[in-house]
Amino acid sequence: MTLLNGRTAVITGGAQGIGLAIAQLFVAQGARVVLGDIDGEAAAKAAESLDGEAVGVACDVTKGSDVDNLLAAAPSPVDVFVNNAGITRDATMRTMTEDDFDQVIDVHLKGTWNGTRKAAAIMRERKSGSIVNLSSLSGKVGMVGQTNYSAAKAGIVGLTKAAAKEMAHHGVRVNAIQPGLIRTAMTEAMPQKAWDQKMAEIPMRRAGEVGEIASVALFLASDLSSYMTGTVLEVTGGRFM
Ligand code: NAD
Repeated sequence: MTLLNGRTAVITGGAQGIGLAIAQLFVAQGARVVLGDIDGEAAAKAAESLDGEAVGVACDVTKGSDVDNLLAAAPSPVDVFVNNAGITRDATMRTMTEDDFDQVIDVHLKGTWNGTRKAAAIMRERKSGSIVNLSSLSGKVGMVGQTNYSAAKAGIVGLTKAAAKEMAHHGVRVNAIQPGLIRTAMTEAMPQKAWDQKMAEIPMRRAGEVGEIASVALFLASDLSSYMTGTVLEVTGGRFM
């Protein structure tokens, strides 16, 4: 299948996990990809591992100039931009530091704002493009120990909808995905007790796999979703529906 044939896709946080799975699927669908990651070496290695045209670039999404450089590394103007980079700094409010709060807001919220506004500026000139933002179920329901992350991920929903309204008449679509519990390095760092508690909340009784987020990202990136903008798709196995 070639849903992204000839298109250029930029994916932040693309060195591993969900971002890398998205890159693998996009390449398989004919896209050229640029992986941006704060770990530039890992991004380059990940790009090499892909079976197609791919480059890996060091990029800290909290810095606007890094995101400019990431977009400049693309072989042609960007058609698809995925704001995927993320971190967690979990702690209850009693113990969370101001730095833990600021870092999480910076990477997710400011990072997504940087990616969205800079990709949109290029896409509007060509009157086409799709931006896909990674929110989280935490942004819908709020999770204990994640006042920083839940706020950032809820903020991404507002950002997505506002940007979608600004960009719709320019032919640029902006949508978000809210994954539930997906098996990656981010979630495998969780204590077993927390993992088990989350599993008990999932009607489908299993965690999701990275490919199950990638396929929804492909849907939003491609013309299959040509009449969708400002939407938030939950990919959660039915958790907190
Ligand atoms: P991950 O930790 O495996 O990968 C995140 C990547 O982002 C890493 O390669 C990391 O180096 C990179 N990164 C971190 N800070 C960065 C920065 N400032 N600039 C650029 N890159 C940076 O995480 P993942 O599980 O693959 O998560 C990907 C996205 O999906 C995140 O936004 C996460 O919040 C979201 N998400 C994940 C889950 C889950 O269960 N795994 C659930 C909901 C949402």
